[in-house]
Amino acid sequence: MSVRGARIHAHGGLEQITVDEFELREPAAGEVRIGLRVAALNHLDLFVLEGIPGIDMPLPHVLGGDGAGVVEAVGPAVDGVAVGDEVVLNPGLWCGRCANCLAGEQSMCPGYQLLGEHVDGTLAQAIVVPAVNCYPKPSRLSWEQAGSFGLVTLTAWRMLVRNAQVGPGQTTLIHGVGGGVGLAAMQIVLAAGGQVFVTSHSDAKLERASELGATHGWNYRRADIAREVRAATGKVGVDVVVDNVGNATFATSIRACRKGGVIVTCGSTSGPELPVDARYVFWNHLRIMGSTMGSDEDFRSMLRSVDSGAIEPVVDSVFALDDTVAAFRRLQAAEQFGKVVVALP
Ligand code: ZN
Repeated sequence: MSVRGARIHAHGGLEQITVDEFELREPAAGEVRIGLRVAALNHLDLFVLEGIPGIDMPLPHVLGGDGAGVVEAVGPAVDGVAVGDEVVLNPGLWCGRCANCLAGEQSMCPGYQLLGEHVDGTLAQAIVVPAVNCYPKPSRLSWEQAGSFGLVTLTAWRMLVRNAQVGPGQTTLIHGVGGGVGLAAMQIVLAAGGQVFVTSHSDAKLERASELGATHGWNYRRADIAREVRAATGKVGVDVVVDNVGNATFATSIRACRKGGVIVTCGSTSGPELPVDARYVFWNHLRIMGSTMGSDEDFRSMLRSVDSGAIEPVVDSVFALDDTVAAFRRLQAAEQFGKVVVALP
């Protein structure tokens, strides 16, 4: 069948994104076709647009990792998913047979891939995915919310619940709060009874974060964040730092973390080289934990939290498929507070 989607035919800038028509293959065994209602952008899409060293994606390539929609067709040997089901997608793809998959650690699969990165993504009217990637859409959510939270909320969930094990009374510093991971992280920490400190380049975003429950917010263009954190914690430092900015923030993360604290990293939007002063790391007993996406069980636990209302996916803006370039421009300019969503016709 023929569908329309936002694709790139070559790597480069926003001028490479075109909305055009292409042939979608039929679902194979274990797969389903989803008629997508919405997709959402992630910073990853900007990396994919530029081209990622070491990842050889066939072109043309459909962008987008997040999405939600309705099951339209079911391939052979599919259990538990039926035509007409309203679903959200887990953007991760795993083999299901290796030791890590069999141990329930799907995001540690050596063959782990992401929709929209290694294979065609969600910025299209339909997509064919493994049935195991479909989870029931929380009925209380709008389609725009449902299609936007998967990647960032799963990422934040695993970092904070599984890795950092945030609990009541703990303090967490989150860099760059307007992004999807930062907002999901903030809600997860607050739901666990912790306190959240945030940073941003935008006073308006700090104001929004404060309304959502952040205890402190600092504009990193004006404030020495590590100094402010120490002042706010009686010179102790925070229990947890969420750092997905990387190069620009990591030195601050190390100085802001308390003795025995943990820094969790899931990305490096400002560049992958981390400035690490080893003396702080060993003297302060710091733990630096890497994290990517999450397991099937992480997704289910996270989904229960979204279902219950403890996590409320924040939608920044909704664009039409034909305006996908404008959606990317908003993401690229870091103007968003929450997810940039594309509604699919
Ligand atoms: Zn595997």
